[in-house]
Amino acid sequence: MQYQSTRDFHKTVSSAQAIAQGICEDGGLFVPQSIPKLSWQDLEQMRKCTYVERAEKILSMFLTDFTAEEIHSCVQDAYTEEKFPGGPAQLSMLQEGPYTMYLLELWHGPTCAFKDMALQLLPHLLTKSLKKIQSDKTAVILVATSGDTGKAALEGFKNVLGTKILVFYPQDGVSPMQKRQMLTQEGENVAVCAIEGNFDDAQTGVKKIFTDSKVCTALDAHGMMFSSANSINLGRLLPQIVYYISAYCDLMETGEIDYEGEKVNITVPTGNFGNILAAYYAKQMGLPVNKLICASNSNNVLTDFLRTGVYNRNRAFYTTISPSMDILISSNLERLLSSLTASDVKVKDWMRQLSASGEYRVDDDTMAQLKSLFWAGCCDDNQTSAEIKELYQTENYLCDTHTAVAVNVYKQYAAVTGDTETPTIIASTASPYKFADSVLNAVVGSVSSADDFEKIAELSTATGTPIPAPIAALQNKPIRFHDSCAPAEMFKKALELTGADA
Ligand SMILES: *Cc1c(COP(=O)(O)O)cnc(C)c1O
Repeated sequence: MQYQSTRDFHKTVSSAQAIAQGICEDGGLFVPQSIPKLSWQDLEQMRKCTYVERAEKILSMFLTDFTAEEIHSCVQDAYTEEKFPGGPAQLSMLQEGPYTMYLLELWHGPTCAFKDMALQLLPHLLTKSLKKIQSDKTAVILVATSGDTGKAALEGFKNVLGTKILVFYPQDGVSPMQKRQMLTQEGENVAVCAIEGNFDDAQTGVKKIFTDSKVCTALDAHGMMFSSANSINLGRLLPQIVYYISAYCDLMETGEIDYEGEKVNITVPTGNFGNILAAYYAKQMGLPVNKLICASNSNNVLTDFLRTGVYNRNRAFYTTISPSMDILISSNLERLLSSLTASDVKVKDWMRQLSASGEYRVDDDTMAQLKSLFWAGCCDDNQTSAEIKELYQTENYLCDTHTAVAVNVYKQYAAVTGDTETPTIIASTASPYKFADSVLNAVVGSVSSADDFEKIAELSTATGTPIPAPIAALQNKPIRFHDSCAPAEMFKKALELTGADA
């Protein structure tokens, strides 16, 4: 299996090269040349398997330049009971009125967000990839984060030999707990820096640094090379395909799926389009999926795009209570367009228009495909809060702000289309304790305390739910990082923090 750039299909590389490199030199993203297929028999075989076994089977179809032993050791080390108590992808069934929802809880890992599912595995894949391409360089992982990626990447890469990690986050765009998680990060090879700007500024800055020849030359002279832990890295995407297939196997096992080919809907709270793209790839592999439901907050650029075929980022940017979805440039959409059009020329042109004018319109054929695959909706902060409260009061189920957006949009879908029959998997992407302030406000109606840890204690007392251990542990950790910079200074900071400016 080879991987090609979305902007030039002639540029092909192995999976190891794609993972080591992160992004293609031409600014395109690496995509598989073809999608491997799963048969019903494969699903039948996997239903009895553990998560680790399912991950091995699926990843080996994509990582054809890795041996079975290599994949086994990567996966085995990533998804341990110690790191994911109770299992990495837990399904909770909720029955509310006409709706049957299966919440796929992906946040039982070390940083309490679904990003752990990929970022506990990526460092293992990356260090093996570097060996395969015979690079003895130190990989500098450059991350732009809307909050959760930063911490999950820091936790995945801390003290991993042969790597350094540098995280940029929008200074006012993350929750207090997300900020604290990053600023207290332990490890010898880590650095964190605030950006005076929003997530798109951080992401654009990081992409520019990656492709800047001067910075890359300076790094090279110091025995280093850049790589990425953002969802533009193929090694982030592939592990995310696994849990949708695994959830389906679990539903087969419990008898919820009771005939061959029975379809499910998958609803995903979406920001950079990585998680829902993984669900799309699962469908392309042969997973029986009816609709992919794309849920956005007030930054609803994707809702408009999937409904009209026009992508237009020229609009107000909102800071919401679901900050990990406060994004106007969804990078991974490029991969979807590549798959739907099978045209590097079209994709390259649309991305050129996006960067020149902030806008592009897809052709009618692509629009027709989008319409048949996806349903899209959005909700604002008030609706998000109301959803958290309703789920808590009627179901005694506490969810975070991002998951609440997905639940709300799924209900909109069911009301508009009348489809309440199709079993629906909803990606639950973070622990409510990562966004304790907003969740407490939604459930109790007020927050009496100003201190972050008192709020967490209050949420636990009010709802009778336990505080996740990784969050409780933050209280005693010292703040280690104090840097901040303007977006234009990210170059300088990157050189300074990696030591390549000497
Ligand atoms: C990153 C994140 C999202 C958005 O996922 P994408 O892959 O960027 O679409 C949603 N919810 C939470 C909690 C996240 O951390």
